[in-house]
Amino acid sequence: MVRVIMLSPPGGGKGTHGKWLTRQTGAAHISSGDLLRAEVARGSDLGRRVAAYTARGDLVPDDLIFSILMPVLVAAARDTGGYVLDGFPRTMPQALRAAELGLELSLTADAAIYLTAPVEELTSRLLDRAGRDGREDDTLGVIRHRLAVFARETAPLVDYYRGRGILLELSTDRPEAEVQADLRDWLQARGLMPSGAGGVGAAPGTSPNGAAEDRGPAAR
Ligand code: ADP
Repeated sequence: MVRVIMLSPPGGGKGTHGKWLTRQTGAAHISSGDLLRAEVARGSDLGRRVAAYTARGDLVPDDLIFSILMPVLVAAARDTGGYVLDGFPRTMPQALRAAELGLELSLTADAAIYLTAPVEELTSRLLDRAGRDGREDDTLGVIRHRLAVFARETAPLVDYYRGRGILLELSTDRPEAEVQADLRDWLQARGLMPSGAGGVGAAPGTSPNGAAEDRGPAAR
């Protein structure tokens, strides 16, 4: 079973292609953003603390992230044997702590998929999504801030995973089917996806976030 980290700037496609991978492999799709938005929607004290960061496009502090995410990750990995992590880790401290916990729990990632697109394309995808999903952080000012936060905090993870020999970098500035064909070939060459998977009609995956499966053209 595959254990994958999806890395991309906002609008890069980690949600879209992460959900596709989940449908192909049956590994749990775990979106840190969806988990955080669910906590905010619940209106809990924790949700109010989270919203103060997400509304501005700032990163939520690591201790909050770990307390919300780790129980879900461990349960999902136990239930499905794998995971597709969408939006976590997102800082070097998160990546290093995740690697330690991965070793302790025998949940080490097999692959990190880095999805890229030009900034204008990322921005226009997010503005387009704003019209459909109404996410409060999809306004131009907050989008620009999230892109800057990505460049400062998350981009260093690309070299970290390249150094571990598990990085695949793909442009998503092309049809989704082409991106998915490259993803499938790379994973299959490493024995991380059964050959035969990746075609039309493969089994649907699970979503422990309880989020609706979004099969539209939206890319995160
Ligand atoms: P995007 O990649 O489009 O910004 P996400 O849904 O992944 O969307 O994240 C939305 C927001 O949730 C982020 O701007 C940040 O505030 C918060 N967030 C998500 N994942 C993390 C994380 N691993 N660490 C800190 N904050 C996070």
